[in-house]
Amino acid sequence: MSAFDDLLESNRAFSETFALGGFDGIAHAGVAIVTCMDSRIDPLAMVGLKAGDAKIFRNPGGRVTPQALEALVMGVHLLNVQRILVVPHTRCAVASNSEEELRARVAESAGVDAAWQTFHVVRDQQASLAEDVHKVQSHPLIPATVEVGGFIYDVDSGLLEPFV
Ligand SMILES: [Zn+2]
Repeated sequence: MSAFDDLLESNRAFSETFALGGFDGIAHAGVAIVTCMDSRIDPLAMVGLKAGDAKIFRNPGGRVTPQALEALVMGVHLLNVQRILVVPHTRCAVASNSEEELRARVAESAGVDAAWQTFHVVRDQQASLAEDVHKVQSHPLIPATVEVGGFIYDVDSGLLEPFV
């Protein structure tokens, strides 16, 4: 028995009907999505895509971090990405807690001091989104021919609200 047995069993069933073997790994729909790690978000399904269609980069808050930019540059030049969506969401923990609040909650759970841990909280979600879209648009290795859009995903309605 391992902690992963149930998941590995599901994986064997998944493999039985697996159809992506030998797939080239490009984004077939030409799409990349930067979004939050939040479990309420299904980034492919929310825009009608499926496995193989898009590059997905996720982190707390759906922020355009240096690592997100690395992924987007690779996506654009090597993996067929032509449209980029930056998608933070409503009721995001990263945008609704202060750094101190998150540290306090984690410290309480961990039972040890968490004051040294950064969480990169978002104070103003719309301002951060505008800044993140600008980071992508102004990146020297992302050409102007690539469409970049900012959207806020509503985790209660499933709708994407165009923002930038
Ligand atoms: Zn979130």
